[in-house]
Amino acid sequence: MLKKVFFSLLSIVFLVSLVACGSNSTNGEGTSESSESIKVATTIAQIQDIVKNVGGENVEVSSLMGPGTDPHTYNAVQGDIEKLNNADVIFYNGLHLEGQMGEIFEKMKEQKPTIAVGENIPENQLLSDPEDPSIHDPHVWFSVENWKYAVEAVRDELIDLDKANEESYTENANAYLNALTELEGYIKEKAAEIPEESRVLVTAHDAFNYFGEEYGFDVVGLQGISTESDFSVSDVQKIVDTLVDRDIKGVFVESSVNERSINAVVEGAKEAGHEVSIGGELYSDAMGEAGTEEGTYVGMFKHNIDTIVDALK
Ligand SMILES: [Zn+2]
Repeated sequence: MLKKVFFSLLSIVFLVSLVACGSNSTNGEGTSESSESIKVATTIAQIQDIVKNVGGENVEVSSLMGPGTDPHTYNAVQGDIEKLNNADVIFYNGLHLEGQMGEIFEKMKEQKPTIAVGENIPENQLLSDPEDPSIHDPHVWFSVENWKYAVEAVRDELIDLDKANEESYTENANAYLNALTELEGYIKEKAAEIPEESRVLVTAHDAFNYFGEEYGFDVVGLQGISTESDFSVSDVQKIVDTLVDRDIKGVFVESSVNERSINAVVEGAKEAGHEVSIGGELYSDAMGEAGTEEGTYVGMFKHNIDTIVDALK
């Protein structure tokens, strides 16, 4: 344990020193993009999707965290530091989602705009961690309404950096915001297909509290709002009790969390004489492969609601 702490401290010191001396380095990868486009780095792909849509051809964006990546436990690798160093602007979620990267963001803030888009949401629309009211739940993208504030944060920052293309950013943002409004309608329509008493979402960790609040689901996660702490036997038992009490037949795995946790719930229910099956895989903190429907914010959300409705209907 101590050894592990020592090495992770060591790697932070190493990465921060790279950050400190890397600001003037030019990287020789020789990509062919025009030198005028704004270089953007993002952490989770949900934010990359905003930047792609709002920035259009005026930006070039890369995200540090691909499909299946858990942002709570993610440690920056050297390639990430290069991306951050080469970027003109960095967008991350904040609210402690990227739990291991706080120090790197602090360093980056001294050099360039480094914006926590989740922190653009009015505080009274943020949910608290049920286990610690002083902490906000970071999974803000699962309220489409809230995520619109993240879109506005990206739009405003791009305009600040590149006044000449203000019109393009404004138009693109409006189109994207309209697509999000359409998405909200779709989610609400689908959710209405499930009887109210069956609207219980059991997942590996508490990523869906905003979703539950906004679209009328009770949400039960085996782990808390972060995957940094492990679950216990009593956590499993609590969920099994809920499944039995409310006669729930389906639970969900998450693409960025080990299946071991939700399998423990299925096994526990079986031992209690209650048959539960895996209702499918949801995208929680990571999205699908780039180039697929699920690799976009709208497509990922549609996949989730379709999967949930099919399993619980
Ligand atoms: Zn999470």
